[in-house]
Amino acid sequence: MRVFYDKDADLSLLRGKKVAVIGYGSQGHAHALNLKDSQIDVVVGLREGGDSWRKAQAAGLSVASMSEAAGMADFVIVLIPDETIGKVYRESIAPAIREGATLAFAHGFNIHYGQVSPRADLDVVMIAPKAPGHTVRSTYVDGGGVPGLIAVAQDRSGQARDVALAYASAIGCGRSGVIETNFREETETDLFGEQAVLCGGAVELIKAGFDTLVEAGYAPEMAYFECLHELKLIVDLIYEGGIGTMNYGISNNAEFGEYLTGPRIVTAETRAAMKAVLADIQTGEYAKAFILESQAGAPTLQSRRRLTAAHPIETVGAKLRDMMPWIQRTALVDKTRN
Ligand code: NAD
Ligand code: MG
Ligand code: MG
Repeated sequence: MRVFYDKDADLSLLRGKKVAVIGYGSQGHAHALNLKDSQIDVVVGLREGGDSWRKAQAAGLSVASMSEAAGMADFVIVLIPDETIGKVYRESIAPAIREGATLAFAHGFNIHYGQVSPRADLDVVMIAPKAPGHTVRSTYVDGGGVPGLIAVAQDRSGQARDVALAYASAIGCGRSGVIETNFREETETDLFGEQAVLCGGAVELIKAGFDTLVEAGYAPEMAYFECLHELKLIVDLIYEGGIGTMNYGISNNAEFGEYLTGPRIVTAETRAAMKAVLADIQTGEYAKAFILESQAGAPTLQSRRRLTAAHPIETVGAKLRDMMPWIQRTALVDKTRN
């Protein structure tokens, strides 16, 4: 598998061009600000009068309506929630985007599952940073970059891949490595990773561990530290040097417990469930559920957010984090700005 770096990217493909970033959320703010700092001419396209409009202007960016921004750009990247992209593409982007422009996404969902049928004259690419948007920005500001994926779904110009690589480099990904993939592979592996391991798996594991200790009569504060707070410290070691480095850093006692107990928690049944989850992603069953959820007004998202906020791990955690002010000093998320 080939990995590209800044030296492989030709930023002149974006110089003298205009890039429209549609959306100013997690990814949108990071892309727009990184592009600006890389001296790319960027305009942010937003719904008029929304909260994002104020934030983007306050950050010194030029802002226009979504269709105005799409209409004035050579490169349009759509960074709004996946469930809103189909409608916004049909209503605000497709009628406005210039002939021969590049249409880009940070995730393959809408193209892969047929929610967007791009006009035939466009190049269609993906630049998917492998990190939350706030990290895409903070890493760039620190002089680094997060790894990224690029893919091409439609190449009318014959330059679609090179333009995508130039964009990836401009937002910082070329500093750590850019891998070429395709829309199907990115979409299916991204959904699987976030569902089975990163978000679904990790959150249920944390809550189940916390609940087990609390139900057995241990202090919730103790359970919070053991099952949530320390997870970061362990993941930092794994991130830095792999599982071996983490095992080197923990006690023999912890390591022995890992071998004895890990397979009692992630069992053959868990692995079978992972295969079933992957099958639902591959067949489009999951995508259908997510699209229906959004058409119904997001009832699951809303009720589950309420339940999570009320869970003792969140209420106890908020109090404990208040006593650790250094966490806020390096906070990634500031809801008034990003
Ligand atoms: P987000 O939820 O943070 O997007 C919020 C922005 O979208 C705001 O500017 C908001 O005003 C705008 N918006 C919301 N609803 C809208 C609508 N109906 N019409 C127009 N604008 C609307 O989005 P995100 O999490 O940054 O995701 C953007 C894309 O990036 C998605 O394709 C996602 O899969 C992908 N992605 C996200 C992350 C991440 O870190 N969040 C990581 C990799 C890829
Ligand atoms: Mg994702
Ligand atoms: Mg311990």
